[in-house]
Amino acid sequence: MNKRWLPLLLLSFTLSPTYAQEKNDDLTTPFETSGGKKTATLKQAIDFYKKLDVRYTTLQMEKAGNADGGYPVNVVYFSTDGDFNKTHWQKEGKIVILINNGIHAGEPDGVDASMLLARDAAQGKIAIPENIVLAIIPAYNIGGILNRNSFSRATQNGPESYGFRGNGQNLDLNRDFIKCDANETKTMQQLFMALDPAVFIDNHVSDGADYQHLMTLIETQHNKLGGKTGDFMHNTLTPSLFKDMKKMGYDMVPYVNNFDNTPENGWTAFNEPPRFATGYMALFQAIGFVAETHMLKPYQDRVIATLDLMKCLVKEVSKNAETINQVRAADRLALQSKKEFPLDWKVDSSKHDMVSFHGYASTHKPSEVSGLPRLFYDHAKPYTCDVPFYSDYKPTQSVKAPTAYIIPRAWNAVISRLKRNNVDMKPLPRDTTISVTAYHIENYETSKHPYEKHYLHYSVKVTTDVNVIKFKKGDFLIMLNQPAKRYLIETLEPTAPDAFFAWNFFDGILQQKEGFSDYVFEDKAAEMLRNDAQLRRSLEEKKSSDTAFAHNAFAQLDYVYKHSPYFEPVYLRYPVYRVE
Ligand SMILES: [Zn+2]
Repeated sequence: MNKRWLPLLLLSFTLSPTYAQEKNDDLTTPFETSGGKKTATLKQAIDFYKKLDVRYTTLQMEKAGNADGGYPVNVVYFSTDGDFNKTHWQKEGKIVILINNGIHAGEPDGVDASMLLARDAAQGKIAIPENIVLAIIPAYNIGGILNRNSFSRATQNGPESYGFRGNGQNLDLNRDFIKCDANETKTMQQLFMALDPAVFIDNHVSDGADYQHLMTLIETQHNKLGGKTGDFMHNTLTPSLFKDMKKMGYDMVPYVNNFDNTPENGWTAFNEPPRFATGYMALFQAIGFVAETHMLKPYQDRVIATLDLMKCLVKEVSKNAETINQVRAADRLALQSKKEFPLDWKVDSSKHDMVSFHGYASTHKPSEVSGLPRLFYDHAKPYTCDVPFYSDYKPTQSVKAPTAYIIPRAWNAVISRLKRNNVDMKPLPRDTTISVTAYHIENYETSKHPYEKHYLHYSVKVTTDVNVIKFKKGDFLIMLNQPAKRYLIETLEPTAPDAFFAWNFFDGILQQKEGFSDYVFEDKAAEMLRNDAQLRRSLEEKKSSDTAFAHNAFAQLDYVYKHSPYFEPVYLRYPVYRVE
């Protein structure tokens, strides 16, 4: 261990008196009994919370839902007054802080930190004010945590063994929040909808460059969260967390989002689209944080730092509870009259803050593996410098909100996802003809390799036209004046980077289903051209401007077919329609 960490570590011990000092009978965690070297197994964690649940009236564990494979995902509530009625929490203006652990099961710092937090809160050693309710997910990625090993975090400094990043389906659960392939995600969305947490923290461990900082923090991108809530988080809550952590001896920095291994040049804030937990929750005005401890710091320090950050978060959220409720309520009201919605963002390089960065000098030396130069951080050469941090983003693409969307009832996979997000959908009471704006997919690119079980579409180009379409009884009318307005726009507008279209939910429309036999269609095409002067003219124009076309009989026949009533209108017509 580097000596400069010793004072910090000692400070952590004194600030967390329960750590390894007080014998707690059977309530000592595997992290403590191992001297900070081990993380709890799933069974150890759940058994531990069961004991707390039996012993303390302030704590209650419930099954939140299933993980892939049918394993339960649990949630542990901590409520200082012992009231676990969720409707009371809302009525009394209590703020739910949702704490997620082990979404990447190889990064278990939060699993152990949360066990200490829950126990010490139950025993009154950590004060949880009455206006706060904790909802702790002891371990989220169940398939991952059961896949325990000592190797899959090759460049992480402990614990001795841990889970694997992929879940039971080998999915990265922190990319699953729109497509929802995993049961864990379905469970989380149901829990999120039931609790409406104002604040969420997701506990992780970083990768990337080496530097002195033990704890780094992502706040959900503040411009994207937007409104008064985004301003409050960025200008008040996040700075207060940095200040509190500093008082506790932690020089926390914004997550070092620089993978060129040159953090001394500064970096941009991490921007998480809605496929990420925090990005998804921002669509519902939840303030999200991602704790990222540094992977090369000892496990015991990382867990205590995660615990201390959560303690700071509880304190600051409690202090600002009234403001948090007010800004969220104001933003939710403003959302209903908001017209323009950004769909994509890029960093605003005209603005930055300066961050005091404590790094290690990096240099290159010959590699023993390849003989070629390799990167090397010299711990004998620590340095401090001010680096630019670009935390502002600006929209690159926006869309005007429609009054409503209509989605035909057959698009089951999308409809079930909307329902899980409490989207209010009204089935049409009878077959109805409605004038709508339809998108037509003009162009798109598709990734060549699978990404989290999908071949993502991107650079989607659309045209629109007004169509009079006959909808069937039971097709869904989705009015936009509802809490899920932003979620609806970012998932149903086909050009949004995390839209259901991008995630392949509408690929059925990208293939033509019928065609024609050329020798039969020849006569029909000839007759059509005889009767349609405009079609005849446009065919001639195309022939004179396109030599290859002029020499291709089938292409000309196909041109007539595509301009005839025989051609299927649903091909490339995006099946979620806008009522303007
Ligand atoms: Zn992670």
